[in-house]
Amino acid sequence: MTVPAEVEGWRHFYSGKVRDLYEPESGPSDRVLVVASDRISAYDFVLSSEIPDKGRVLTQLSLWWFEQLPVPNHVLSTDVPAAVAGRAMICRRLDMIPVECIARGYLTGSGLLEYQHSGTVCSLPLPEGLEDGSHLSPPVFTPSAKAEVGEHDENIPYDAVVMMVGDDLAARLRSLTLDIYSQAESVARSRGIILADTKVEFGLSSSGDITLGDEVLTPDSSRFWDADLYAPGQSQPSFDKQFVRDWLTSDEAGWDRVSPPPALPSAVVERTRSRYVEAYERLTGRTFS
Ligand code: ATP
Ligand code: MG
Repeated sequence: MTVPAEVEGWRHFYSGKVRDLYEPESGPSDRVLVVASDRISAYDFVLSSEIPDKGRVLTQLSLWWFEQLPVPNHVLSTDVPAAVAGRAMICRRLDMIPVECIARGYLTGSGLLEYQHSGTVCSLPLPEGLEDGSHLSPPVFTPSAKAEVGEHDENIPYDAVVMMVGDDLAARLRSLTLDIYSQAESVARSRGIILADTKVEFGLSSSGDITLGDEVLTPDSSRFWDADLYAPGQSQPSFDKQFVRDWLTSDEAGWDRVSPPPALPSAVVERTRSRYVEAYERLTGRTFS
């Protein structure tokens, strides 16, 4: 258990796959304590095994990015109760916009699947002849709709975003997402890391300002590839759950993809922890402690 049931002064009100949200027991209700646990999800399941330090890595990496992105974000303070130190931030409570804002500079994952089926991504036509890992220039905005727990998020056309939130807000979501991608892509590149794609979430503050929320540019929300190993035409090893996915689909795990996944062997847990820490250290140039 990495997320305590009780955090002094805060009342738990929501558990996502990875994060837990708390509201103040008293005082201003426009604040939320966002706590990242060590939980890990794969293939839409939250696994029974946790990855030690993952919550701290995600929070510290998000904070590092928030500071340099030129977009208003939800962070108010990192002065959090000791029980969640390092893994939590006090944020502006937002009315979240139910669109996963994704920017892709490389084609893979669900984008590749749609392209192979119809030559498009989110109904946007792409050039012919692209393969797994192909560079997309310019990057594209490929929104998806948040699915119910246990379901896949679904790629949606830009027009569907317009229908959901209106012309103006849709256009702002698209341009903010592409701005974030471009800036982060060049930072990552200078560290020898390719940012293949990333997902951000926005919300509206109580005064109606569009605000960047949730986590940003972590291995859970983004595909990071080692630039030295990049070779389009095959799936690229990524800085996140590669070992977890590989093991879960191995004969050794013997998992049917329907029942709850088996617990991870300790070697897989340890290698996954190292990958998250390595992503943090390579991107930020800091030592994780
Ligand atoms: P879901 O919440 O849909 O299950 P998830 O499993 O990825 O997705 P987590 O990342 O574990 O969710 O939980 C974070 C939740 O907190 C998300 O639902 C996110 O939209 C929400 N959230 C993030 N920042 C804020 C904020 N500032 N105010 C309110 N909600 C927020
Ligand atoms: Mg999330």
